[in-house]
Amino acid sequence: MGRITLKQITKKFGDKEVIPPLDLQINDGEFVVFVGPSGCGKSTLLRLIAGLEDVTSGEIEIDGQPATELPPARRGLAMVFQSYALYPHMSVRKNIAFPLKMAGADKAEIASKVEGAAKVLNLTDYLENRPGQLSGGQRQRVAIGRAIVREPAAFLFDEPLSNLDAALRVNMRAEISELHQQLDTTMVYVTHDQVEAMTMADKIVVLQAGVIEQVGSPLDLYNHPQNLFVAGFIGSPK
Ligand code: ADP
Ligand code: MG
Repeated sequence: MGRITLKQITKKFGDKEVIPPLDLQINDGEFVVFVGPSGCGKSTLLRLIAGLEDVTSGEIEIDGQPATELPPARRGLAMVFQSYALYPHMSVRKNIAFPLKMAGADKAEIASKVEGAAKVLNLTDYLENRPGQLSGGQRQRVAIGRAIVREPAAFLFDEPLSNLDAALRVNMRAEISELHQQLDTTMVYVTHDQVEAMTMADKIVVLQAGVIEQVGSPLDLYNHPQNLFVAGFIGSPK
């Protein structure tokens, strides 16, 4: 579960082609990082996979099934937003439970899934708190918890750590990597941070102006960059 195939997908906003025809295979359980400079189309690509934007042309398959026409809720994927997307007036428990409640799950199922996610994320003692009473890292974990309870085939992260301070960012990277190992689920992670890409990814996809410049393991890219852009981007952290 969690295999995502992009076949010649394109995206235009008006006349502007942001993603020229693009092919990509994301395998079961892989941690894939989209990296590239601001404006290169990382978020757009993730939103196309999530179904939050429609492709202009091309096909998306999830676990071998056509998904191009499916609405976001039926793709079996969960997008993790930055922690400020939490509901400030609701407890941690209610924030995490929200997608299950929307899906009409019963109380017992909601309680057991929320508590399971809280355990994995070390949030058990904070379930009755509101987001405003938590640290930035804890808030980000709540946002991840909201995705976990849906038991998605893949998690989609769009720069989830960009509003955390540097030290916390390092911690959260390690936590997300650990979560990936525990859950053994596909994760697609967008960042403009080369260090984040190099430390977290099984597979890095380097983008420039909507074009994939190279796909490979961190070691591949570091040792065998296919062009100067990749060499400059991976080789010289800014
Ligand atoms: P990144 O996430 O890599 O910073 P984005 O995917 O957000 O890049 O944006 C890629 C390009 O698409 C940018 O030129 C951006 O201005 C443009 N773009 C993104 N969303 C829209 C939109 N809804 N309407 C018009 N242009 C957009
Ligand atoms: Mg973006």
